[in-house]
Amino acid sequence: MRFTRLRLNGFKSFVDPTDLVIADGLTGVVGPNGCGKSNLLEALRWVMGENRASAMRGGGMEDVIFAGTATRSARHYAEVVLTLDNADRRAPAGFNDADALEIVRRITRDAGSAYKVNTRDVRARDVQMLFADASTGAHSPALVRQGQISELINAKPKARRRILEEAAGISGLYQRRHEAELRLNATETNLARIEDVTEALA
Ligand code: ATP
Repeated sequence: MRFTRLRLNGFKSFVDPTDLVIADGLTGVVGPNGCGKSNLLEALRWVMGENRASAMRGGGMEDVIFAGTATRSARHYAEVVLTLDNADRRAPAGFNDADALEIVRRITRDAGSAYKVNTRDVRARDVQMLFADASTGAHSPALVRQGQISELINAKPKARRRILEEAAGISGLYQRRHEAELRLNATETNLARIEDVTEALA
C-alpha cells in the first residue's frame, strides 16, 4: 500500500480545501517558518487514528479545527482524506476489496470524530488496526516529529522497544492480545456467575 493523496479541509492552518498529490519517489515540503509543514505531517498522523491531542500540539482534539483569524471566521469541522494505492491488494483483510482505499476522518465541534473507509462508516479502532497491520500508522517510526530524535536518544529501553515493535509491525498483535484478554476475563466472570446460580438452584 502506498500513500498517493492527502486532502485537507479546515484542518489547522489549511482552512481552504487543499489537495496534495504524493507522487512516486521522494516528496519534499519546503516553506517559511509557520507555513504549515508540520501541520501536514500531523494531518497524516491524525487521519490514521491519532487520539492524543498532545501529539497534535493541542489541548483538546477540536484544536485541529481551523480556529479563525482576523479576517476569516473559525470553521465548524475539519476533515482529512488519505488515499492509498491498493493495486497490489496488500491491504489487511476486510479492507482488501478495492484498488484504492480512501480513509476519511472528520471532526465536528461538540460531536467528536467520525471515520470512513471507502464511504463505509468504521470505528477509530478499525482504522488504527488497518494501519498497524500494514506496519504504519499514527505512531509509525517513519513519522519523525521535531525533537523526536533527542527524545529517542534519552528514552528508556522499554520505550525504545515499543518503537522497534512498531517497525516490526507487531503492535497490532499486542492490541488484539489485549482485547482478547479483556474478553477472556469477562467470560471467566460470567462463568463464575453461572456456577453461583447453578449452585444456588441445586
Ligand atoms: P516551522 O518551520 O517553524 O516548524 P511549520 O511550517 O512546520 O513551521 P506549522 O507548525 O505546521 O508550521 O504551522 C504553524 C501554523 O499553523 C501557525 O501559524 C499556527 O497559527 C497555525 N495553526 C495551528 N493550528 C491552527 C488552527 N487550529 N487554526 C488556525 N491556524 C492554526
